Amino acid sequence: MSKIKVMSENLANKIAAGEVVEKCASVVKELVENSIDAQANNIKINLIDGGLTSIGIIDNGIGMDKEDAKLAFARHATSKIYKDDDLFFIETLGFRGEALASIASVSEVNLDTCNDEVGTHVHIKGGIMDDVGPSSARIGTEITITNLFYNTPARLKYLKSEATELNNCIQFIEKLALSKPCIAFTLSNNGKVVVKTSGSGNLLKTIHEIYGLNVSSNMLDIKANNDDFEISGYIGKPGLLKKNRNHFNIIVNGRIVRNNDINRAINDAYYTYKHEGFYPIVVINIETDPTLIDVNIHPTKQDIKMSKIDELCQLLYVTIKNTLYDNLLIPNALIDNEINNKNEDVFISKYENNINDNKTIIQTSLDFRAENEDEVVIKNADFKKLKLYPIGQVHGTYIIAENEDGMFILDQHAAHERINYEMISKRFHDEIPSYTDMLIPFSIELSSSDFEIFMANKYVLEELGFQIEEFGINTIVFKSHPTWLTKNFEGDNLKTIVDLVITNHKNFNKGRFLDSLAKMISCKMSVKANEHLSKEQIEKLLDDLVKCDNPYNCCHGRPSIMKFTNYELEKMFKRVI
Ligand code: ZN
Ligand code: ZN
Repeated sequence: MSKIKVMSENLANKIAAGEVVEKCASVVKELVENSIDAQANNIKINLIDGGLTSIGIIDNGIGMDKEDAKLAFARHATSKIYKDDDLFFIETLGFRGEALASIASVSEVNLDTCNDEVGTHVHIKGGIMDDVGPSSARIGTEITITNLFYNTPARLKYLKSEATELNNCIQFIEKLALSKPCIAFTLSNNGKVVVKTSGSGNLLKTIHEIYGLNVSSNMLDIKANNDDFEISGYIGKPGLLKKNRNHFNIIVNGRIVRNNDINRAINDAYYTYKHEGFYPIVVINIETDPTLIDVNIHPTKQDIKMSKIDELCQLLYVTIKNTLYDNLLIPNALIDNEINNKNEDVFISKYENNINDNKTIIQTSLDFRAENEDEVVIKNADFKKLKLYPIGQVHGTYIIAENEDGMFILDQHAAHERINYEMISKRFHDEIPSYTDMLIPFSIELSSSDFEIFMANKYVLEELGFQIEEFGINTIVFKSHPTWLTKNFEGDNLKTIVDLVITNHKNFNKGRFLDSLAKMISCKMSVKANEHLSKEQIEKLLDDLVKCDNPYNCCHGRPSIMKFTNYELEKMFKRVI
């Protein structure tokens, strides 16, 4: 009788395993979260072959007594204590309770745990607990999962290659470590350490331990709040970009989460400060009332829904945008690995000397940042007072300038485009648009459907100072254009503007349309490469650029100006060592 019960329960566990456990990283996740629940502040994850052969977790948590150790593998085990701030994961409790049982049903488990008094060893294979006895374990828990899915071949084939499984585990532990700077994590594969954090409690230091010096020394700190949310953390300078959003580390009440609205707000805040399709590195902590967080959509995923998400996104957007604006700098022409590597050594050895003294470590790292930034940072406010003296033009494309601090290289098109983009964007807000009548009105013939669309939307252009009339069948004629449109910006270019109106008509958004229009016009109005400029034109370009709100990029995010500091020049020519 009892055997039958075990069998059917085991079957249920196996089925549940398919829900909870899809990859080695899901096993790591369940086990490490158990360690965190057990108040561990030092967690070691040892993988063999990316977890395919074995996954071992050693923690220094409170451990379990014999009864708890046995119960932990029972379906719906609810021995865990959940705190208030776990409230938003309440939906997953069922799954969390089942997780260990499910994992045990499809693998071989060795558990050694000790809660201060007694050590217990448990061995389970395929869900059958066949050995429970004493163990000499020290306080904490050590659990090893081997041969995952050995008895469910259908699931086994869903496991990916060692490299993919390992990579998933690394990504998970890195994010977790960023969300828990107070916990020391060590992840190793086949004996080689791949992630290691010290549990210093210092987020910037954790960022350093995960991403390295080049990233940690190029982060800007943010802090803001409104009635419902408190945000803090670090955002990467726009020079530090990745090709995907994996490095948007968003932590809500201590949990790593994923939310598309938040991602979009961050991305929008970097708008025109970076290339499209590239993403910054950010680590942002959001604290809020747990009741604002809706349940997560799927227990093993990190997606969440929140009430007041618009307010949160607005707060993030404004805070990040202002931080970037206040701290922007001209990218240094040389990403000097030599300098970075040298400093990295200094940085690490300073850490090691002070390994037991967190205060000193923090101070050291901040000193270091200040030192480093002194050399390269020009704050936005200072930049506007900056004077750049022209030297000349190279290949009709780049402009060389200098001042007391060093040498500058500008991309003439990118710089001019930035100037025009800001000028046009400002003119869009003119109360009364000023316009010029065209000497020769310009007519464009459209297809009948495009004509209908254009006529319905032409008001956006008319508000800017374009005068457009109907002229025979499916034909429009431009009679005037805004004064800021340069003379040579007529003819075919007007066709491009008409196309822009037509292609934007679906879900028409005026703000977005005007921005695309400003980008398009400023690009076309700007000097191109291979165009000779007079000394006066170069001077004007330099003067106009320093007055821009964001002089560092063209409106598409390409750099417009690079700096070689005097120090870098001296270093290049070995005047200093
Ligand atoms: Zn352009
Ligand atoms: Zn551009």
